[in-house]
Amino acid sequence: MVKRQRILITGRVQGVGFRPAVYRIARGLGLSGVVYNDTKGVTIELQGKEEKIAEFLVRLRSDSDKPPLAEIKSWDVVEIPVIEAEGKFTIQTSDSQGSPLSQVTADIATCRDCLAEMADTEDFRYGYPFINCTNCGPRYSIVKNIPYDRPNTTMSVFKMCDKCAAQYTEVTDRRFHAQPVACGECGPSIRLTDSKGKTIETQTERVIAETAHLLSAGKIVAIKGIGGFHLAVDALDNKAVGRLRERKKRDHKPFAMMADSIEKIQKYAIVSESAERLLKTPQSPIVLLPKKPNSTIAPSPAEGVSTYGFMLCYAPLHYLLFEQLNECGTDVLVMTSGNISDEPLICKNDLAQERLGKVADAFLMHDREIYRQVDDSIVHFVDEQPVLLRRARGYVPSPIFTEENCRQEIFAAGADLKNTFCFAKQNQFICSEHIGDLEDAEVYHHYINSIEHLRKLFEVEPKVVAYDLHPGYLSTQHALSLESSKLIGIQHHWAHIASVLAEHGLSGPVIGLAADGTGYGTDGTIWGCECMIASLEKFERFGHLAYYQLAGADKASKEAVRPALSLLKKAYGNKFTLKKFDWLLKRIEPDINRLRIISEQLEKGVNCVETSSLGRVFDAVAAMLGLGSYNHFDAQLPMALEAVIENEIEEQYDFDLTNRTGEPLQLDLGKMVKELIADIQKGLTNSVISAKFHNCLAAGMLEMAKAARESTKLNTVALSGGVFCNRYLTIRCIKLLKKTGFSVLFNQDVPSNDGGISVGQAAIAAQFG
Ligand SMILES: [Zn+2]
Ligand SMILES: [Zn+2]
Repeated sequence: MVKRQRILITGRVQGVGFRPAVYRIARGLGLSGVVYNDTKGVTIELQGKEEKIAEFLVRLRSDSDKPPLAEIKSWDVVEIPVIEAEGKFTIQTSDSQGSPLSQVTADIATCRDCLAEMADTEDFRYGYPFINCTNCGPRYSIVKNIPYDRPNTTMSVFKMCDKCAAQYTEVTDRRFHAQPVACGECGPSIRLTDSKGKTIETQTERVIAETAHLLSAGKIVAIKGIGGFHLAVDALDNKAVGRLRERKKRDHKPFAMMADSIEKIQKYAIVSESAERLLKTPQSPIVLLPKKPNSTIAPSPAEGVSTYGFMLCYAPLHYLLFEQLNECGTDVLVMTSGNISDEPLICKNDLAQERLGKVADAFLMHDREIYRQVDDSIVHFVDEQPVLLRRARGYVPSPIFTEENCRQEIFAAGADLKNTFCFAKQNQFICSEHIGDLEDAEVYHHYINSIEHLRKLFEVEPKVVAYDLHPGYLSTQHALSLESSKLIGIQHHWAHIASVLAEHGLSGPVIGLAADGTGYGTDGTIWGCECMIASLEKFERFGHLAYYQLAGADKASKEAVRPALSLLKKAYGNKFTLKKFDWLLKRIEPDINRLRIISEQLEKGVNCVETSSLGRVFDAVAAMLGLGSYNHFDAQLPMALEAVIENEIEEQYDFDLTNRTGEPLQLDLGKMVKELIADIQKGLTNSVISAKFHNCLAAGMLEMAKAARESTKLNTVALSGGVFCNRYLTIRCIKLLKKTGFSVLFNQDVPSNDGGISVGQAAIAAQFG
């Protein structure tokens, strides 16, 4: 029997080759009808035999027929009247472009079909460094405006040749409406310049060969990519990596690396099956992988951590370069962000030449403009699940879908460190890419510009503005300066927990465990390790790490001596003297005068704040173990402390939970400090001490969760906060909680560090908007 059905599909279905796929399947099955984009997604009308329509529906969702980038979110089928003598199936292209929310997609790594063409000497794009198609290539980084059409991208300056245009306009072609389509005849080109910008070479093959020679000779080359410049150097050349570190003024942060195959990465790191799958995804993130013992990678790319950050080539240019590098015998490149210390990633040619000219010996340039700078994303594995630590290229602007439509459009300002911001519109949270630390003036400037650009791009008119309670945050000050009908201040750790709820499509209540550095509390103190009963509507502080004092506000997050002294004084009370602990303190701060000053400051409470920060406890313990006493970058000491753990052990330090009526439960680490000091004196290894410390925290948080369950009968725990970027602690917590019968939620799509705050803020604001 002939029927006609209308199918409405939402999700990532525009700009990903969805209509041509529908067309191919429908024609193959002898169905008639039409497919078009609309403001919600894609609408298909299908007419034909009932069983053929049913087969169509199965095939469209199958891995072999669904376009690789498409993601179907919802699916709605209604029966409509049959149209007599309809003829063939057609694609209607003269429709509106659809919703701004569904048009702009993320930048996608080069697909297999394009790689095959690039290697085919008969193909007219043989060896072309900008080959792309509907299934791959730049998107978000080149879009200036909507509708997403070539004139609104940075490709507008390149006029398509006849061959490219023919593919672009042919509905059945892999390049149908692929906006960045180009070839050697009509598209962007590369060139090699010296550090001053003088062109050395322009012929594609010679540019690449010469770049490879420079790299294998130990030179630093700035390479323009998809979302910005990378600084590249041979990762096995210790001297060259050292030179890069010195010139980049980035003394300690680990460098990311790139290889052209899993086999190459496996020479240096342990790649699990799931890690291999993730490395090969179209998003192509940096994946943190355990180092192999005796790896020959220069020690300097990743000192003080137990992992290497590796990504596979993701742009055609990377593949062409690695082909030449292989001939020169170079395996792996350091590919670190092209910027100086904490400034924003550089994406413009002239700025790169100006800023990176002192760092790079040469530039591998191209003339396709990058409109939005997008860093590489970083992912690690927790409980076999990929977890984003930095969400940027490949993932942004993919939205997080909500169950219900937002009543009003929302802007969430985020936090000041690892900032992202977020818009809520219709049934989507659109979180920006990683912006950076706003205390840097240029990052702040970039933040303000980015908000405006994305607001226009997605046509958002926020009526509700959400911000962090910290009065000193620049993001907060910006939010408060906006004219909007409603301003909502949201406690930092509540936003962390809400970010977990948002990405799991839940509204709570749950038991929230936030393990964090610092965030402004509702009582004016600095919160950090919190147990809260939280939903998207409200939260109650159920328990927290017992307060200790931090001297010297801002300095306290860098200098470990400050929390170390404070925790010792708290644990030992008046039994503590500088002289008695001289043996320990001198490895943290050799200057006795400074120790005296900070010690007095703590006693008198001058410029001190009360805090339940967990991040600072990690700093203190790392310093006591002699692993360093200064955070040159965020979480350097905590990362070093995690890295010394060799094996999981079951022993742990003791702690107290104190329960005073009318007050939240308190987790007191006094016993832990004393036992840890005794272990250091006994000469126990750092590896064992660190594991016992981590186990103690996991056990302490478990006890808080159990008490919360006892009192509320809730059984779901949500974990969030920057300290949960620590894999050992997170895995331990999940294990203990699950063993005790809890179901456990944690961040995966947005970072558990402050990069996820804006999504949590948006989710809470959506309840009030
Ligand atoms: Zn492709
Ligand atoms: Zn062309």
